[in-house]
Amino acid sequence: MSDMSDDQNSHPESGSGEPSVFSRIVAREIPADIVFENDRVIAFRDIEPKAPVHLLVVPKTERWRDVVELAAGDPDLLAEIVATASALAGDPDVFRSDDGADLTQRADGAGGEFRLVFNTGASAGQTVFHVHAHVLGGLLQEGTLAH
Ligand code: AMP
Repeated sequence: MSDMSDDQNSHPESGSGEPSVFSRIVAREIPADIVFENDRVIAFRDIEPKAPVHLLVVPKTERWRDVVELAAGDPDLLAEIVATASALAGDPDVFRSDDGADLTQRADGAGGEFRLVFNTGASAGQTVFHVHAHVLGGLLQEGTLAH
């Protein structure tokens, strides 16, 4: 396995020394609709939602570019991202549309049911190289990965 330099790991988007857009959300330098936060992860609504509910769950460190690096480097943190997605999908205050509509008619949000997507690499649609999980929900269609 290659040993990435500190510069690549610290600044995965451009290598220019700038923090990622998600690190800037963690630092409150740019606004976001934050739904959960602890010492290690933050969750907020995607600015361009692709489903009735579209959250991003992001480790606060930008050390890991993508889920492959994260799984190899800190599997406990990956497990925490999955657990966070599950908890949020059971929270009726989170699993609602932006206009407050009840999407699932359940007292437990989506009942812990959700779609989890990690775009990995530019050709797979990854645009922010600070690992993040897309948590999609709200009456998604069966039989398709599109919403
Ligand atoms: P990906 O294409 O998998 O790298 O996902 C990046 C996601 O970040 C996209 O779905 C964007 O809509 C989302 N995004 C980018 N900037 C922001 C922001 N300031 N607040 C919330 N979501 C954002």
